[in-house]
Amino acid sequence: MRLCVYCASSSKIDQLYFDATEQLAGILADQKVDVVYGGGAYGLMGKLADVIIERGGNIKGIMPKFMNEIEWAHRKVTDFEFTDTMHERKAKFLENIDGIIALPGGSGTLEELLEAITLKRLGLFTKPIVILNTNNYYAPLKMMLQQCVDEHFMDGRHLDMWSFVDSPEEVLPTIFGFKSWDPSAIKFAAQK
Ligand code: AMP
Repeated sequence: MRLCVYCASSSKIDQLYFDATEQLAGILADQKVDVVYGGGAYGLMGKLADVIIERGGNIKGIMPKFMNEIEWAHRKVTDFEFTDTMHERKAKFLENIDGIIALPGGSGTLEELLEAITLKRLGLFTKPIVILNTNNYYAPLKMMLQQCVDEHFMDGRHLDMWSFVDSPEEVLPTIFGFKSWDPSAIKFAAQK
């Protein structure tokens, strides 16, 4: 199994976010899940890679060349792919994966997560998307997405595209138990 993890580049966040990331990274390494991530050395990205490497797991970084040039790449990650653009990087995150995990993050994480949800709505991406809601960080996003449905900007069926979980232990069982999704989702993508 290969999962893509979106998460924060910031190191200035509360320790509890690092603890949850450490716990998740340990689970992923122990369960022999291959991980693809942004390749960063700092913040939750750095913690994720540190722990997976320490525990003997597999992690691959995908990063635009300009970020490598300014030395943002994690030195201990040996499997790296460098892209020309941010767009190419985001497309590569989604290749040959079995699902996405979004940990707390800033605009970069939100953008990556919402793009994956948008592609899923169009039936162009069909894999599970699990949002780890550590410390209820994602409460406003959860409300926003519900509001999209309540006010008919999206269909009720779209609520099946993602799953919020509160603890790292729930992430893999949620990925395994996810409701299937297929390209025919395009039929109800638009609210006509
Ligand atoms: P954010 O959630 O805003 O911290 O953004 C995470 C995403 O932002 C990453 O996937 C990158 O697109 C980008 N990013 C920002 N800073 C860094 C960094 N120091 N190293 C790697 N990626 C970064």
